[in-house]
Amino acid sequence: TQAPVNVTVTGAAGQIGYALLFRIASGQLLGPDTPVKLRLLEIPQAVKAAEGTALELEDGAFPLLAGIDIFDDAKQAFAGANVALLVGARPRTKGMERADLLEANGGIFKPQGEAINAGAADDIRVLVVGNPANTNALIAQSHAPDVPAERFTAMTRLDHNRAVAQLAKKLNAPVGEIKKLTIWGNHSASQYPDIFHAEVAGKNAAEAVNDEKWLAEEFIPRVAKRGAEIIEARGASSAASAANAAIDHIYNWVNGTPEGDWTSMAVPSDGSYGVPEGLISSFPVVCKDGKYEIVQGLEINEFSRGRIDASVNELAEEREAVKKLGLI
Ligand code: NDP
Repeated sequence: TQAPVNVTVTGAAGQIGYALLFRIASGQLLGPDTPVKLRLLEIPQAVKAAEGTALELEDGAFPLLAGIDIFDDAKQAFAGANVALLVGARPRTKGMERADLLEANGGIFKPQGEAINAGAADDIRVLVVGNPANTNALIAQSHAPDVPAERFTAMTRLDHNRAVAQLAKKLNAPVGEIKKLTIWGNHSASQYPDIFHAEVAGKNAAEAVNDEKWLAEEFIPRVAKRGAEIIEARGASSAASAANAAIDHIYNWVNGTPEGDWTSMAVPSDGSYGVPEGLISSFPVVCKDGKYEIVQGLEINEFSRGRIDASVNELAEEREAVKKLGLI
């Protein structure tokens, strides 16, 4: 059998962490042949709760779980990490200004980037889930100069999965028949779910929908505001679906996207589609041999162009804001 892969998870005692860790331990993150060692990072007050989750993980008797270590120090938690899932973040609280939010998260993601730079394995892959995810990823990346920039990604897979599900519902099609949908831009209310290149059972999905009013007034806002809909219904924010999306993101990155399909990941821009270089923005990507590539050459119509630009502009503003704060 293979040597265990070190998976570091931050915010391990949180809601998403609780759902995520069991999926990782059962082999769904990397596949059924890959043993994993979990390295959990928490703030000191939450270490005890993380220890509780570790007891439950032990009680799962997962054959692929080769060990669990718990830390409150980033340097130790990221030592030897092959995969890092950065879930813990400072949530926006009532009355909090954006600059305060960015600053608080700078205090988390700067030292984590430094720790990844100092001690992670050469093949480290980073997924940032904690919000504002794209900009948190940018902060971490800018403090890890020795790690190739493309190893830092942020999660828009939950938005992608939500959009696939909503489109399938509208078209009365099984979700498995929806392909090539794209989330562009920021993981925020400005994100743009694009169905113009999407396919349903091999046919163009936008043509199959043929309803621009539904697209503009129902589909796009529904996907973008799904988080609020979940909070309203559950009385708590989405957790299991976010964990599921994190699993999907890493699984596809490592094991590839299916032939004839792509997925959405927020990755450092190489300037494709007019997105300023270096912004961590969501794109259509194909994964193969453990690497991702931005899908090239898609035609962007006017409807899409304005929406992509609006979300990308928001990312550019966030980058300016963290630059001003000295966080990158
Ligand atoms: P959750 O586990 O519910 O959420 C964690 C982060 O994921 C939040 O930033 C949340 O953003 C984000 N997120 C991204 N996408 C989604 C989505 N679709 N739905 C819901 N959340 C999403 O938070 P908890 O408060 O339960 O747990 C956070 C844990 O992190 C705590 O245990 C805390 O101690 C820990 N923490 C650890 C740190 C560290 O290891 N250094 C640093 C900071 C916190 P949003 O708030 O916008 O929903």
